[in-house]
Amino acid sequence: MSPIDPFRATRALFDLPDGLVYLDGNSLGALPKSVGPRVAEVIASEWGGQLIGAWNSAGWVDLPRRVGDRVGRLIGAPAGTVVMGDTLSIKVFQALASALELRPDRRVILSDTGNFPTDLYMAQGLIASLDRGHKLRVVEPEAVEAAIDESVAVVMLTQVDYRTGRLHDMAGLTRKAHEAGALVIWDLAHSAGALPIDLAAAGADFAVGCTYKYLNGGPGAPAFIYVAPRLSDAVRPALSGWFGHDAPFAFEPTYRPAAGVERMRVGTPPILALSALDAALDAWEGIDMEALRARSIELGELFIAEVRRSRPELELASPEDPARRGSQVSFRHAEGYAVMQALIAEGVIGDYRAPDIMRFGFTPLYLGEDDVRRGAAVLLEILASGRWDRPDYRRRNKVT
Ligand SMILES: *Cc1c(COP(=O)(O)O)cnc(C)c1O
Repeated sequence: MSPIDPFRATRALFDLPDGLVYLDGNSLGALPKSVGPRVAEVIASEWGGQLIGAWNSAGWVDLPRRVGDRVGRLIGAPAGTVVMGDTLSIKVFQALASALELRPDRRVILSDTGNFPTDLYMAQGLIASLDRGHKLRVVEPEAVEAAIDESVAVVMLTQVDYRTGRLHDMAGLTRKAHEAGALVIWDLAHSAGALPIDLAAAGADFAVGCTYKYLNGGPGAPAFIYVAPRLSDAVRPALSGWFGHDAPFAFEPTYRPAAGVERMRVGTPPILALSALDAALDAWEGIDMEALRARSIELGELFIAEVRRSRPELELASPEDPARRGSQVSFRHAEGYAVMQALIAEGVIGDYRAPDIMRFGFTPLYLGEDDVRRGAAVLLEILASGRWDRPDYRRRNKVT
């Protein structure tokens, strides 16, 4: 364990309530202090002061591309290959629709049971709309590699499993898919800002992700989409909105896609949300992703060791090998929901994913060893005392 927290300085960039142990930055990142002033300034000076002129004078029109380049630097995407906008669900739909068109003779979309439901739902909806006999084949994560064959048009995977944190081998599976003539879409929802990613080196065809988890962009922050430069001038956007047109302000009656990834834009970009994200990304300037990964592993390993010292029987749902996990640690407990509510009531915030997963996220930018020790200690006390066993802790909230 390193004697000095290399990320102590970044912690000061975040606003966190005193005394709270926040182990849920994998679901909604903490608030960077820079966001409030930046959004206030955009509202007062750009919106309030420049009104519609701000689309040009404040550069609003290019914000999806400019912020996309900043996200791109964190995921190994060259400048000009990432664009922001819409929700991740929409970006999954766009990537999948474009990818399927590039493999017109194939009918199978291959995914796994570790994928997040909305990714599967969007695939199901697209298949129904296309009505061309596509099939969604969903296998166990360990069976993905063997299931890649020449019937597969697109392999659509989330790199880090939202329940267990299990990490897929991005480069290996991409290579395997390409050997079989398939395309690959990587969902980086639980990877961007959590670990080093090199989309270009992995040869990924498409990648998508959200920015409100490890990237701290705020609730509902705009999603991103990456299209490999070798494909981006060839793909047809299924959602052919005017902001993805080659000349939106020519107001032509017929759609013509913009060059490159800009064609994946749809409508008017959410400037306030993009400005919040832009400010949040300042916290990533100068961050060495390898150092972040090392620290994330240290914190996760510390949490597991602390929990196991007193409760070796608690079942780890995450891979034992930290090299095979993202930046979260999950334990199984039949009453995980109630235990998590008790933890939250005592100032340790994690979350619960049905049917029995207690999830704890590790975000080195604003989390230290003291937080991890305290989180583990409170969890152990709650389990030992049984103080989770109350009707109000069993009552399900809409959001778990
Ligand atoms: C968080 C997450 C989503 C959420 O999609 P939204 O459209 O932003 O609500 C989708 N897919 C994965 C893999 C996720 O982890």
